[in-house]
Amino acid sequence: ATPMSVMVGVGKAAEAGVLIRNGEALQSSSTITAMILDKTGTITLGSPKVTDIITVDGLDEKRVLQLAASLESGSEHPLALAVVESAKERNIEPLSVTGFNAIAGHGVEAVVGGKNLLFGNEKLMKDQGVALDDFVDKAQQLAAEAKTPMYFAVDGRLAALIAVADPIKEDSIAAIKRLQQNGIRVVMLTGDNRATAKAVAEKAGINEFFAEVLPEEKSQKVQELQMQGEVVGMTGDGINDAPALAMANVGFAIGTGTDVAIESADITLMRGSLHGLADAIAVSKATLRNIK
Ligand code: ADP
Ligand code: MG
Repeated sequence: ATPMSVMVGVGKAAEAGVLIRNGEALQSSSTITAMILDKTGTITLGSPKVTDIITVDGLDEKRVLQLAASLESGSEHPLALAVVESAKERNIEPLSVTGFNAIAGHGVEAVVGGKNLLFGNEKLMKDQGVALDDFVDKAQQLAAEAKTPMYFAVDGRLAALIAVADPIKEDSIAAIKRLQQNGIRVVMLTGDNRATAKAVAEKAGINEFFAEVLPEEKSQKVQELQMQGEVVGMTGDGINDAPALAMANVGFAIGTGTDVAIESADITLMRGSLHGLADAIAVSKATLRNIK
C-alpha cells in the first residue's frame, strides 16, 4: 500500500477507537484466518464478583472470608480483587499477612494468624495433597454456570469453596459473530478450568477453546495454530498475554488492559469492545482494495 493510503486507513481506524501502531499491522489484519481471544477481561468484563461461599461443616463464613481476603490482599489478580472487595462490602477487616507467594496459573499461599493458607484451583490443591472429596462435584456445578470455583484450605485442610462470576461484555457475542461471518476461526484461550471455559465459550458462541493454559504456554498456542497454516490474530489484556500478543501475526490489546499488553500489541482497541477487531479488518481490506 502507498504511504498515503496507509495514513488514511490508520486515521479511519482511529475514528473507530482502533489505534494501529504501524502500516504493516494495518496491512496484515486483512490476512488473518484465525483469532485467539483471551477469556478474562477480553471476552468478559474482567471484574469478577464473589457469588458463592460454601464452607466445610459449619465453619464460619465471615471468618473464612476474612482469612481468604487477607491472603488475596497481596495479589493483583482479578479473582483476588473480587475476594478483597467482597470482604470490604461486608465490613470485614483484613489481618496481617506473612510469606505471601503467588503460584502463576494456580493460586496463592501465605501465613495469616499463624495459619498456612492456600487458595486456588484443583491442581494447586492436588499438588499440595489437600483432600477435596464431594466439593469437586460442587465445583463442577458452579463451573457449569460459567462461574470460576476456587478452593480455600487452612493448614492443609479444605475450608471452603468460593466462586466468582465474570459476565461476558454486552457486545462480545455480536462482535465474535462478525469475525465468524468473515470466515475467521475464533478460538478462546484461558488459564481457567475446563468446565468454566466450556460454559463461557458456549455463551459467547465459540466452539473451540484451550483451557487450563499456564501463563508461559499461551504463546505456544499461537504457534500451534501458525503451524497449522493459520495467520493468527491474538487479543488479550493481561501481563500473561504479552508473549502471545508478540508471537501472533497481529496482536490486539484491550485499551483498558495492562500497559504490558498494550506495549506488546500492534493494535489497541481503545473502547475495550471486540467490535474493534472486525472494524480493523474492514479498514485493512478497504485500504488494500484502494491501492490495487
Ligand atoms: P486467566 O488466564 O483466566 O487470567 P490465570 O492463568 O491467571 O487465568 O489463573 C488460572 C487459575 O488459577 C484461575 O482460574 C484460578 O483458579 C487460579 N488462580 C490464579 N490466581 C489466583 C488467585 N490470586 N487467587 C485464587 N486463584 C487463583
Ligand atoms: Mg485476561
